[in-house]
Amino acid sequence: MSGAAGLVVVPEAKIYDHGIGHPLRPQRVLLTWELIDAFGIDREPGVVRLGAEAADDETLMLVHTPEFIDATRQAGHGAAGPWARFGYGPGDNPIFDDMHEAGAIVVGATVAAARAVVGGEVAHAFNAAGGLHHAMPGRASGFCVYDDPAVGIAWMLARGVERVAYVDVDVHHGDGVQAVFWNDPRVLTISIHEYAPELGFFPGTGALSERGGADAPDSAVNLPLPPGTSDGGWLEAFRTAVPPIVRAFDPDVIVTQLGCDSHATDPLAHLGLTTDAYRQVAAELHALAHEVAGGRWVATGGGGYQWARVVPRAWTIHFAEMAGVSPPDRLPEHWIERAEFESRGEVPSTLSDPPPRRSPADEEAAAIGAAVLDVRAGRSEGAG
Ligand SMILES: [Zn+2]
Ligand SMILES: [Zn+2]
Repeated sequence: MSGAAGLVVVPEAKIYDHGIGHPLRPQRVLLTWELIDAFGIDREPGVVRLGAEAADDETLMLVHTPEFIDATRQAGHGAAGPWARFGYGPGDNPIFDDMHEAGAIVVGATVAAARAVVGGEVAHAFNAAGGLHHAMPGRASGFCVYDDPAVGIAWMLARGVERVAYVDVDVHHGDGVQAVFWNDPRVLTISIHEYAPELGFFPGTGALSERGGADAPDSAVNLPLPPGTSDGGWLEAFRTAVPPIVRAFDPDVIVTQLGCDSHATDPLAHLGLTTDAYRQVAAELHALAHEVAGGRWVATGGGGYQWARVVPRAWTIHFAEMAGVSPPDRLPEHWIERAEFESRGEVPSTLSDPPPRRSPADEEAAAIGAAVLDVRAGRSEGAG
């Protein structure tokens, strides 16, 4: 069950680098491409490598304001200005060299994936450098300069695609993409994420009660899961709600954000997933794309801060599913050596992880899927 799959490889994306000590290290993406290459997945029949060019201002303006684009360009070229107003400054979104150019290449890579899928060159395409889902039309947020999933979706809509379903499995709420399409009935946004306002967990939005604007009721779907949720509860919530809602929406294309900061070992979040959950959700998304969208599936990366130990394995699992291949569990020795050299630490030697322990949070999480369906059917209010 696979058509051709495209892997967008843009080595220039390594300039998307907030600097030493920032968790969003470019090595996450570079090691992912290297692991996919080490397994030979990108040389399988039906798999193509896709290049990309930086998105131009006109493309960025499908989502972003000219003032924000100008501020990003100037700040990244060392000019002084009121950049804090645009989300830039010490902390999550430090100003870094050439950040406009860096953001524009990430967006260009997602647009290249969208172009290949919509144009029929491939059924599925993956931009591991993308998934910067927190960026807002007029400001940077949560390590994200430009919102490549939102621009990719807007680009497709501008080219005649009528309905897009966006599914975001990052541990953080996909707030930027939701905000961009809040009042647009052509785009269904679904986000399954950790939700813990009492812990001040970023970004703080994504409650069950967020369901879309007045012109697009029920176009936003949120599955807010408690800290401690592991594979069982997460997958049950996903399977209960996501496929039926996407099916009912009947999209032309599915866009996914595949952040893997939901992993049990991720330093920035508190869910307990293993790579087995990624294998299962990849299969679910793949089947859904073929069932409802003629196979058209545009995938992006996203968060994930175990940059050597988890991210490359997680996204290799996802891309192997898109390519319809089953790599051996054991990671190629030369890749392990590379990753251990880069990270100066040990990395796991298999794609699989030890099985997770089911936690009490899993029961709560499992019930969220049903709660989402109840709210949509008008059987409850969905506060919280
Ligand atoms: Zn397929
Ligand atoms: Zn995240």
